[in-house]
Amino acid sequence: MTPSTQSPTRGYLDEVDSWSARNYNPLPVVLDRAEGVWVWDVEGNRYLDMLAAYSALNQGHRHPAILQAAREQMEKLTLTSRAFHNDQMGPFLRELCQATGFQRALPMNTGAEAVETAIKMVRKWGYTVKGVPKGKAEIIVCSGNFHGRTTTIVGFSSEEQYSSGFGPFAPGFTMVPYGDARAFEEAITENTVGFLVEPIQGEGGVVVPPEGYLGCTAHMCRERGIAFMADEIQTGLGRAGQLFACDWEDVQPDVLIVGKALGGGVYPVSAVLADTGLMDVFHPGDHGSTFGGNPLGAAVGRASLRVILDEELPRRSRRLGRWFMDRLRAIESPHVAEVRGKGLMIGLVIRDESGPARPFCEKLQDRGILAKETQRQVIRFAPPLVVDEETLEYALEHVTAVLTE
Ligand SMILES: *Cc1c(COP(=O)(O)O)cnc(C)c1O
Repeated sequence: MTPSTQSPTRGYLDEVDSWSARNYNPLPVVLDRAEGVWVWDVEGNRYLDMLAAYSALNQGHRHPAILQAAREQMEKLTLTSRAFHNDQMGPFLRELCQATGFQRALPMNTGAEAVETAIKMVRKWGYTVKGVPKGKAEIIVCSGNFHGRTTTIVGFSSEEQYSSGFGPFAPGFTMVPYGDARAFEEAITENTVGFLVEPIQGEGGVVVPPEGYLGCTAHMCRERGIAFMADEIQTGLGRAGQLFACDWEDVQPDVLIVGKALGGGVYPVSAVLADTGLMDVFHPGDHGSTFGGNPLGAAVGRASLRVILDEELPRRSRRLGRWFMDRLRAIESPHVAEVRGKGLMIGLVIRDESGPARPFCEKLQDRGILAKETQRQVIRFAPPLVVDEETLEYALEHVTAVLTE
């Protein structure tokens, strides 16, 4: 829907158009309020949030326990920097390690920073422990990957637009087709230090690799002395129907990268988890972040993790995801090529002949459902994990209408 020239929405859109860098193409809806799975625009219209801030809102908008933790912490202490200790970071990292089965955690803020941290750690491990010659460390990555937007990370993206114009790029990355364990094995050299992989590619279009891929590549990594680095920034913390998507294949990565929902939709919190063999390559001064591990972020992270565990959101995501995907597959529409995903991380692929996914998202917006296309042909359905059946029925009604009208 194109907002009329008189509407308050139009004014906000024009303002952003005038003042913001043009690096996004959002749906033309201006939100000013949210609760749980619902958001409201400046004109009072209510929408179901089926994107959940790219899975940063697994616990729902403004979860009371997370808000309470943030409020209480704000009344006491918000930032120390790592030049001093604070009383929240230790408990946060202990709880995160205990929930994930790792010995150590390194707190950061955004996902991209956590990925950069993991790259630095694994490279240094390669030089100091594995014995790779100076400057020769290689990390294997997958085509279709998304790991963030820093210059190092976009340098190994296969998405032309992500890298075009932003070089020169850092060397040391080898790309292999996603989901192909043999191609991975063939790309290994004596200088390979790590394999960086998303258990399900989110931005790549909700791409689920063949069954056994994670287990097989993790096994090869173990045999060859390579760090298996799982980027679970989007798939983790319940989104894909397990606490971590690697759990589907009983894979414990050597390096686990988390972010997004770790901040409960309130504050940016990310982390890298590993055992001492890897993590202890970092010495004072090797790496850092002014805000990483700050007490407000740590308190928010503790509450965010507790909500995921206490409310058993992974199980809920698994159960509702299965059901919702079955229902989506049952829609008789000439436009649908495929429905894929795990848990409540679902991609509905629109046939090429039906045009791009974007107009379908715009029609959903008109009906009070906010979903966003990823890649050209995929509508992503990833609501907050606190959603219930009744609400998903409501979504199905409108999705069905849009896909069959
Ligand atoms: C979102 C995302 C990132 C980047 O996180 P930012 O917080 O935006 O830097 C990295 N990896 C994956 C898989 C993501 O989905």
